[in-house]
Amino acid sequence: MSKGSLIVLSGPSGSGKGTILSKLLTEDKNTFLSVSATTRLPRPGEVDGANYHFMTKEQFESLIQSGGMLEYACYCDNYYGTPKKAVYDQIEKGNNVILEIEVQGAMQIKNACPEAILVFVLPPSIQVLENRLRGRGTEDEDTVLKRMETAKKEIKMATEYDFVIINDDLDEAVDDLANVIKASKSYKNSMKQFLHNHYKQ
Ligand code: ADP
Ligand code: 5GP
Repeated sequence: MSKGSLIVLSGPSGSGKGTILSKLLTEDKNTFLSVSATTRLPRPGEVDGANYHFMTKEQFESLIQSGGMLEYACYCDNYYGTPKKAVYDQIEKGNNVILEIEVQGAMQIKNACPEAILVFVLPPSIQVLENRLRGRGTEDEDTVLKRMETAKKEIKMATEYDFVIINDDLDEAVDDLANVIKASKSYKNSMKQFLHNHYKQ
């Protein structure tokens, strides 16, 4: 059985990552979202082990020390990271794993995991991003302005990714991501083992 793919999904807050993923994951039963670890406090309604593995700073740092994190970053004064074992357990079973992470973590994956495919989600314009972020109604005015400043910096990193998906029409954006996942099976950096075993390369 062939291994699954590792897909990284980034994009500014409000670009539509969560919306795209919830649709894709209900349609694709071989693809799973990695549950990150974080030291931030749970928001109302968030469930430990489902939304995040909520941890103390000491627990998080001990996982870093023992080599248990595939990547991690400090974002808005809290640690966020991807526990390694769960990701590779799924990939070994032939399932694809999506990491929804910010750009610092994505660049660590790019260096450490050449087989990973990096995807950046962008709304059609900065104005649409701001409208959607406000329209979601989950942030106060100060936070919206801060997130828009952060967004401008994050968007500069888009060309470091393998694919950029423009989230204008939602169904098209979901299709684009599904096509990237399909194509990831043939990605040259995932074929090294096959070439070695079958072609002695
Ligand atoms: P993120 O997870 O990247 O922060 P969300 O998925 O929460 O972004 O999307 C931000 C807002 O934009 C939400 O209110 C969502 O309903 C809306 N949205 C997402 N994609 C589209 C789209 N293609 N067209 C219109 N609105 C969208
Ligand atoms: P939030 O606190 O809103 O849930 O997440 C804040 C930011 O952290 C988002 O940009 C999210 O994508 C990012 N993030 C979530 N999990 C991880 C992770 O495991 N690693 C990294 N590097 N970033 C993460």
